[in-house]
Amino acid sequence: MPDAILRLALPSPLRRLFDYRAPAGLQRAALQPGMRLRVPFGRREMIGILVEVSDHSKVPADKLKAALQLLDAQSPLPAALFKLCLWTAQYYQHSLGDTFSWALPTLLRQGEPAEARQERFWHLTEGARLDDPRLARAPRQRDALATIAQHPQGVPHQLLSQLQLNKDSLELLREKGLVRIEVRRHAAGARHANWLAQPELPLNPEQRAATEAIRAGFDSFNAFLLAGVTGSGKTEVYLQLIRETLEAGKQALVLIPEINLGPQTLARFERRFNARIALLHSAVNDRERLDAWLAARDGEADIIIGTRSALFTPMKNPGLIIIDEEHDASYKQQEGLRYHARDLALVRARQENIPIVLGSATPSLESLQNAHAGRYGLLRLTQRAGGAQQPRFLRLDIKSRPLDSGISGPMQQAIGQTLAAGQQVLVFLNRRGFAPTLLCHDCGWLAECPRCDARMTVHQRSGELRCHHCGHVERQPSNCPQCAKVDLRPVGAGTERAEERLAILFPNVPVLRVDRESTSRKDAMQQLFTTIQRGEPCILIGTQMLAKGHHFPRVTLVSILDADGGLFSADFRASERMAQLIVQVAGRAGRAEEPGRVIIQTHLADHPLLVQLTEQGYFAFAEQALSERRAAGLPPFCHLALLRAEAHKPGQAEGFLDEACTEAEHLLRELNLGGIELLGPVPAPMERRAGRYRAQLLLQANARAPLHRLLGSWLLALEAMPAGRAVRWSLDVDPIDLF
Ligand code: ADP
Ligand code: ZN
Ligand code: ZN
Repeated sequence: MPDAILRLALPSPLRRLFDYRAPAGLQRAALQPGMRLRVPFGRREMIGILVEVSDHSKVPADKLKAALQLLDAQSPLPAALFKLCLWTAQYYQHSLGDTFSWALPTLLRQGEPAEARQERFWHLTEGARLDDPRLARAPRQRDALATIAQHPQGVPHQLLSQLQLNKDSLELLREKGLVRIEVRRHAAGARHANWLAQPELPLNPEQRAATEAIRAGFDSFNAFLLAGVTGSGKTEVYLQLIRETLEAGKQALVLIPEINLGPQTLARFERRFNARIALLHSAVNDRERLDAWLAARDGEADIIIGTRSALFTPMKNPGLIIIDEEHDASYKQQEGLRYHARDLALVRARQENIPIVLGSATPSLESLQNAHAGRYGLLRLTQRAGGAQQPRFLRLDIKSRPLDSGISGPMQQAIGQTLAAGQQVLVFLNRRGFAPTLLCHDCGWLAECPRCDARMTVHQRSGELRCHHCGHVERQPSNCPQCAKVDLRPVGAGTERAEERLAILFPNVPVLRVDRESTSRKDAMQQLFTTIQRGEPCILIGTQMLAKGHHFPRVTLVSILDADGGLFSADFRASERMAQLIVQVAGRAGRAEEPGRVIIQTHLADHPLLVQLTEQGYFAFAEQALSERRAAGLPPFCHLALLRAEAHKPGQAEGFLDEACTEAEHLLRELNLGGIELLGPVPAPMERRAGRYRAQLLLQANARAPLHRLLGSWLLALEAMPAGRAVRWSLDVDPIDLF
């Protein structure tokens, strides 16, 4: 019988598997897909994941190397997760090995044992007595024994120093047989008989209807779009569905967007449930991540809450998936493996045959179209829970009105009135810094980034010019670099400038800025919110960080300083994003008794999308936007894939894309595929970024299947192209950002 050939996925960008002979003495029957093996690779060693065992290899027998070591006695990846990774690599046309690298906890990839951490606990022995005569002249041992005695569950070894326990004293106690060490699994606890730590709210009729509809689909794959205005009680619906999942002995996976939601959402879940909650977001360290992953896999976590990559958390008894704020762009990874966690969550729910709920006040057009097509059940919550009213929208036409640091006269009046009434104001401007650029009034010089085709943003407080695209920073010049004159003027307004102006206009109230700079300190955000919750008049100014999750019950005026960017942009998704932002920001306001007002400054007060949005609401807007997309043949009515390339020399990226385009045309003929258009190659809208020249080729297809047939063959051809070596290139399937 021939030797078994192990086909492994290795952490490499290459879209292929790598063949090895089995380590000496290993039984073929001991091998399962998903097991990790240490293998030689060039002059290094790598850890690979076994995908299949075969009898044959195309590699000549004398070239075939033997794997060095099998790291697992059984596969650390449950079959369902393995299958999901295979699907992901295939769909996003990504190397399987690299897909595993993105999907699995770092420590697993580094060869750490895939078992929950064993921890040592110090306990009293049965017959131990605190007044043991042998301790009469050993006060430290006596104290140590007394401390241990206070912990009937045992003292974890890790906490010894915190409890001022000395290891030598404990060892001496152990020699005397007074204490013992017990090794047990970390964090393993019992499941609870009563899941509720707090009573549930009685649901209102809309919430009840939604919950019942979802419950009716609880036993198998069913997808629901829970479209509920902000504050309509979507989270309460999630919580009650999760309770039912727990009662059925199953686990729930909850995905949340990246920014700021973590602690608030977590607190709400912790208050509600007696349950073991595993947390997976960017702030947990590698060890915590592996522990949470293992606990979920082994059924020792009941609820798993995390951001994008938590989608790849295995579950022993999966019961429900919830995607909160499903429209949020942070679900799409923009580097490496460019997956969309919402889309993959649907695939996963189908594979695991469990229900999935997508929730949002502003559903993505993709999800709405899926609901229209009958693929998702559409459940709407139209009223705010707890009786608060929906805010009113006003468009403020600023054509030919002077702007004072971005704030028009009528807007200033509205802000003044609101403050005078003892209420709070939220000013939204999605632009950080003081001003979008610096201009020389004498010669017209503009501060441009030396590494990008972009202007640099003025940051007055730090005296810097910063490029928001590549991070380049310069001192602000005092003279024009071109004509040496001194009349340099900031043009336009960002949050820093508006903040400064508002502080002058309204000197008697605090002006609080919320953006990436002002909240980079860990507790800064928390302090801000404490001030706001106190409820005294204040102005809160910020970027889209303000749009997410937080409740500001005393805010009754939302001032949106600039909505036009979303209406002019060349990006077909810009208007959708702008509408979502406006509605989400508006949703922060007036949650309590006082109704909210939203005033939007615009030069395009008659723009049909803006009129729809402000007069009839997000759903009317979305219908209008969907019909425009349908007419233009844009997603969700077509499927896109974007090949991006960048290189140090001008023309190089486009040269590669030209060849790629020729190859694609050739394959389309050879495979006899229709309904696919190749658009480009063209320079990227910002051609130079961080010193590299960028170009792109867009593929637009009527149907998914032919597009994927093309991509499979095409990518292998691209990998083999010499022109591809000099450029950095990547494929983005279902890109959400065409820039
Ligand atoms: P969403 O997730 O849709 O923004 P939340 O679930 O956060 O809405 O609910 C908004 C507010 O309304 C919360 O303070 C919540 O406690 C309250 N709430 C939700 N459902 C009910 C209900 N059925 N009865 C009373 N208050 C409710
Ligand atoms: Zn000048
Ligand atoms: Zn730059």
